[in-house]
Amino acid sequence: MIKVTWDEDVCIQSGDCLGLLPEVFRLEGDRVVIDASAATEGAIRDAVSRCPSGALRIEED
Ligand code: SF4
Repeated sequence: MIKVTWDEDVCIQSGDCLGLLPEVFRLEGDRVVIDASAATEGAIRDAVSRCPSGALRIEED
């Protein structure tokens, strides 16, 4: 499974990821929590690429 990390110091809380893939990205308080098993790798890569701040990153093996 693809692994996605979220950097709280970089996130600008735009909400793009939450709107694009709410089954994967959700808020817990002001933290973005990620369930990378809830969508296809392609959909997740697309959402990560649309993050305006670069807070989301895919950890490649
Ligand atoms: S899309 Fe990026 S900047 Fe916007 S809330 Fe998600 S992680 Fe934060």
